[in-house]
Amino acid sequence: MSIKTNNIIKAVNPSFEGIQPDMEIDNVSIDSRSLQNNIGTLFFALPGKNRDGHNYIPELIENGVLNFVVTHIPNGCKNRANFFIVNDTLKALQDFAAYYRGLFNFPVVGITGSNGKTIVKEWLNYALSPDYNIIRSPKSYNSQVGVPLSVIAINEKHNLGLFEAGISTTGEMEKLAQIIKPNIGILTHLGPAHDEGFTDMLEKIKEKLKLFKDTDVVILQKNAIAELELEGTTTFTWSYNGDADVNITKTIHTDTTELTVDYNGDSFKVVIPFFDDASAENAISCLMLMLHLGYSSDFITERLAGVYPIEMRLQVKNGINGCTIIDDSYSSDYQSLKIALDFLEQHKTHKKKTIILSDVFQSGFTVEELYEHVTQLLTANNISRVIGIGETISTQLKDFPNFISYKTTQEFLTQYNANSYSNETILVKGARSFRFEEIVVLLEEKTHETVLEINLNSIAHNLKFYRSRIKPETKIMVMVKAFGYGSGSYEIAKLLSHQKVDYLGVAFADEGIALRNAGISTPIIVMNPEASAFSAMTAYKLEPEIYSVRELRAFIEIAKQKNLSDYPIHIKLDTGMHRLGFENYQLDELIELLKHNNFVSVKSIFSHLSSSDVPQYRDFTLGQIDKFTQWSQKIIDTLSINPIRHILNTSGIYHFPEAQFDMVRLGIGLYGVGNDAQERKSLENVGTLKTVILQIKDIQPGESVGYSRKFMASEKVRTATLPIGYADGIPRSWGNEKGYVMINGKKAVITGTISMDMMMVNITGIDCKEGDKAVIFGTAPTVVEMAEALGTIPYEILTSISQRVKRVFYQE
Ligand SMILES: *Cc1c(COP(=O)(O)O)cnc(C)c1O
Repeated sequence: MSIKTNNIIKAVNPSFEGIQPDMEIDNVSIDSRSLQNNIGTLFFALPGKNRDGHNYIPELIENGVLNFVVTHIPNGCKNRANFFIVNDTLKALQDFAAYYRGLFNFPVVGITGSNGKTIVKEWLNYALSPDYNIIRSPKSYNSQVGVPLSVIAINEKHNLGLFEAGISTTGEMEKLAQIIKPNIGILTHLGPAHDEGFTDMLEKIKEKLKLFKDTDVVILQKNAIAELELEGTTTFTWSYNGDADVNITKTIHTDTTELTVDYNGDSFKVVIPFFDDASAENAISCLMLMLHLGYSSDFITERLAGVYPIEMRLQVKNGINGCTIIDDSYSSDYQSLKIALDFLEQHKTHKKKTIILSDVFQSGFTVEELYEHVTQLLTANNISRVIGIGETISTQLKDFPNFISYKTTQEFLTQYNANSYSNETILVKGARSFRFEEIVVLLEEKTHETVLEINLNSIAHNLKFYRSRIKPETKIMVMVKAFGYGSGSYEIAKLLSHQKVDYLGVAFADEGIALRNAGISTPIIVMNPEASAFSAMTAYKLEPEIYSVRELRAFIEIAKQKNLSDYPIHIKLDTGMHRLGFENYQLDELIELLKHNNFVSVKSIFSHLSSSDVPQYRDFTLGQIDKFTQWSQKIIDTLSINPIRHILNTSGIYHFPEAQFDMVRLGIGLYGVGNDAQERKSLENVGTLKTVILQIKDIQPGESVGYSRKFMASEKVRTATLPIGYADGIPRSWGNEKGYVMINGKKAVITGTISMDMMMVNITGIDCKEGDKAVIFGTAPTVVEMAEALGTIPYEILTSISQRVKRVFYQE
């Protein structure tokens, strides 16, 4: 894009304060972390309880950004940049996008529905891109923020737009419609997704159809209600019942679906490499648009034969030789490259960043322009090493420093040498036809197929939930001890530090040191510091919990030796947990030691509740809170200090928000597990433990399965063997028909005893094959359900998952 800032004034009608109202803008950003922010950036400071964009403006000005859309000018920023001041920055972003969209005049397809939007968009892109310069929503950018960002990426060279619109409640579609301004509408499958936001199906349909208010034609499956709503708009319908403009007969084969299409007295066949109903519907949406655009049946048949599964997520994986791999081996266009580079910056675990990149497609630029832009992007993102694969990229980027090129993926694979990759974060990004998944396989750490998938969006959601339960000024500390409750500490700490949590809590010094080495600068408290680690702790700026006079003396001794002054410490009071901490009778001695002591400084005073989740002990908890109030007050008054006070853990935040003092300590809730059933409803599942079926067996009546013949078949059963056992942290007591796993959405009960590295499950009646996925826990069964059945607590199950299980992090 290229637009003058005075057009912003036209588009969003702000009041202006700044240095120069007429500057050139060539990109829009809402993400302060992006290394793509530069002098040409227009930054929209979106609000948010956790991450108000306004807070990042001083940093952005330092980095050269000069144009901001804001609700107010942050302190100290006046006269240092241009500020376009509005009441609502999200609305301004939407208005700006709507204005920008109005500058272009080419066919735009608006896609909505409950399911299939992204797949239809991606398949259409695949099928039509040989003939059009397509601009499309990247990934599944279909929200109130995602849609404007998608549209703002349009440029003069594009001649077809494919944008998806997703809504979760009434009133949202109208805004998206103004931004997308589609000429052609596609309504995909209408299912139950996002039903919570609507009173009924009719309301949902009505809202969705608002996208099509001004379209020339709407493509949809024959649907009386929708057609009534669309009265006055031309429709182009399909049906399996012979009553539509295009009539389809579907035949499902082992792993393909054959669609016979009858249209205008003509009949032809489309075969897609899928055998499920949803894929058939999505393919039909695609062929309908192709018919509308005038494609011949031969072309449609040929293009749709190549549709493929869509992976929208960028995945972070452990790589060989200490590398981290970011797998984006499914697309390579300019827009998604920008997103992937931002993602790389946020998730890198090393200074050195490498990208393996295929030819880049569909930008709407000429080849030279495109690679000039790509070069700029790679430079702005400080990419240390670029490996280009493909005819075009090899020549176009040849002058880039540290550029290595291969003409084909095959050439790369034959010359591959594992030793040339170590301790770097590698983004693997290639168009589908380059089959970069084969490169990912080589670079990935070789472990078994069992993975614990961690959903970073859910972590952010859960944090937001607990933040909404406390006052805005209350600080928040997040416990990442025990390897982030088994979920992986570094990735999570990185997310939390961006979310500006105030403290991180670890159990031992070495956990804190690992976080510092990984670049985390958020203050860290070590909850069980050992005297032997004090020296290292001070070197890494780790702050000790001080629970006894003996410990305090030892720490002061180290501080003295190292010439430290005012080193932050955290005083732990024992108000009833009886684990660690000062009791009432020890306070005088503590105060005496701290008086006139300049080596350390009391940063916080805290205590821990033993039973915040046990309703029966409510009075006991209130008693703990009361003691904490009095004891801490005594220390504060005698020493005349002003420390942070905190006592609440997850269940405390939920049940005793009145005792939040100055900070709370969130643990298990962040990881999606609340101790209270009501609380859990507000949380999202974070971890999903998955494995695959190794082998399938048919067991005859009278035969047994597993060690000690604990399972005897009384009738014919079919079993699947999974490569996960008690050494991976699955409690052995979960076997013998007590527990189950989910395979293709169905419960498969565990047959026989769980072995060290394997277990068998009963798959009689379940449609599955070797290589299919099995979910050990996640949304079903939940860790809570497992813990209840096994007489333990979710904490134990989560933290027991062995380190040999690979953690994979993803973000939608
Ligand atoms: C682990 C821990 C927490 C967090 O407890 P959750 O129940 O997981 O929220 C808080 N404070 C201290 C001192 C802890 O050790």
